[in-house]
Amino acid sequence: MGDHKSASLWRHQDDEYVYTREYAESLDKEDPLRQFKDQFIIPSKADLTRKTIVVPEGDTTPSPPCIYLCGNSLGLQPKSTRKYIDRFLQTWATKGVLGHFTPHSDEYTPQFLDVDDAASKLMAPVVGALVSEVAVMDTLTTNLHLLMASFYRPTKEKYKIILEGKAFPSDHFAVESQIQHHNLDPKDTMILIEPDDPSNPIFPTEKILKTIDTHASSTALILLPAIQFYTGQYFDIREITAHAHSKGVLIGWDCAHAVGNVDLQLHDWNVDFAAWCNYKYVNSGPGAMAGLFVHERHGVVDMDDQESPYRPRLSGWWGGDKGTRFLMDNKFVPRPGAAGFQISNPSVLDISAVISSLEIFSKATMPALRRKSIELTGFLEHLLLTTPSPSTTTTTTAVTDSSSTAAGSSSHHHPHHRRPFSIITPSNPSERGAQLSLRLEPGLLDGVLERLEAGGIVIDERKPDVVRVASCPLYNSFSDVWEFCRVFLGACEEVGGEREREKR
Ligand SMILES: *Cc1c(COP(=O)(O)O)cnc(C)c1O
Repeated sequence: MGDHKSASLWRHQDDEYVYTREYAESLDKEDPLRQFKDQFIIPSKADLTRKTIVVPEGDTTPSPPCIYLCGNSLGLQPKSTRKYIDRFLQTWATKGVLGHFTPHSDEYTPQFLDVDDAASKLMAPVVGALVSEVAVMDTLTTNLHLLMASFYRPTKEKYKIILEGKAFPSDHFAVESQIQHHNLDPKDTMILIEPDDPSNPIFPTEKILKTIDTHASSTALILLPAIQFYTGQYFDIREITAHAHSKGVLIGWDCAHAVGNVDLQLHDWNVDFAAWCNYKYVNSGPGAMAGLFVHERHGVVDMDDQESPYRPRLSGWWGGDKGTRFLMDNKFVPRPGAAGFQISNPSVLDISAVISSLEIFSKATMPALRRKSIELTGFLEHLLLTTPSPSTTTTTTAVTDSSSTAAGSSSHHHPHHRRPFSIITPSNPSERGAQLSLRLEPGLLDGVLERLEAGGIVIDERKPDVVRVASCPLYNSFSDVWEFCRVFLGACEEVGGEREREKR
């Protein structure tokens, strides 16, 4: 987390210059991670609108890359992913079953039997865990169920689960069905933390701690998002976890929007368990194999250890000891750590994509990515909130120069210029990741989306009035952010102006 202000370059610059494309390009030149953009396939504007996937033969019309600010939903494809998957297919094709046990000098991933361990090794530093504390397996909601099967053991006294009232639907359903699975009634078992102001659904840490206090004696488990998918709020994991533990309550974190985005320290923060998917900021493809974290104190499998007793779980052979796994004697010897929560042998096809992506994180490193991310999102916020209106701007290359907006000119005068949107994401960089969520004034969304699309900009909308914009430090540049602001602010002016005229 930490202080961003000292590093915020644009705050020291002459006002007008900050809004120019030239300035954004100068920030890109100084960006130590700039070369990573080239490791990703950025769809062209023509790619996005073409009715086919394959470019028709003979079509050589050049098209510029789109501006992709949607890594919070589905990350872009690394160029290396195809190589990794090809190599896997070739291994399977040329070796068949021998691929399981035989290492090869030109392999990108180890023999099939050990791919899961290779993935854990790369995954651990991304979430701040020991290698033994993570497993790359299954999918997010499935893993939440598996983890709750182990960590949610309701008793007569302690049976409630605390979660937020605006939880991602899948998390809500998973908790609700776990409760029903134990023949309990969600009505008095599911404790939903609701935001004070539904139009500004931010959860102050104080409020979460108070809810924990109120229900501590009857609560079995807390499940919260590390980063809230809608607002982009980054919860204070360390403090909330410590508080839960001080009240004797277990706590798990859904890191779907945090993994690969912020510099998580799940081990040091003493988190009991966590789960995430790998297709958002981790760029492993839609539905890619997910990950989970089990703190080392919960992964002990020594049946004589009184201090850290064995945690019962739903088991399958892949959670069993590697040395005896193939004896097929039906004596389950669990693997220590998170690996012991695995059930099935992993899809090597799928995990190859995860590994190819994690190799990039290993080169870039999370602390460096987070540093850039804070700058990039700060730049986005700064341009959105302070760019002068076109009617008051003279610099020809400024962000809102209406003569160059993708949707055309909007030269009419705005004597009472104000921004027709607000940022609902917290403004403190330690309380957010890459994403900013913008709430547009009623009636603007459709028109603004239309213009963004025409400008080749990919973002994500939540009807009726919110857009989520995520600048990913691996493949987004300061120029991308600048271009988004130019088109977005121009679109707001234009659509807002049209609506004003309609009203008259
Ligand atoms: C993306 C996301 C999911 C999706 O779950 P899958 O099991 O991967 O389909 C669930 N919960 C949260 C919080 C998410 O952000």
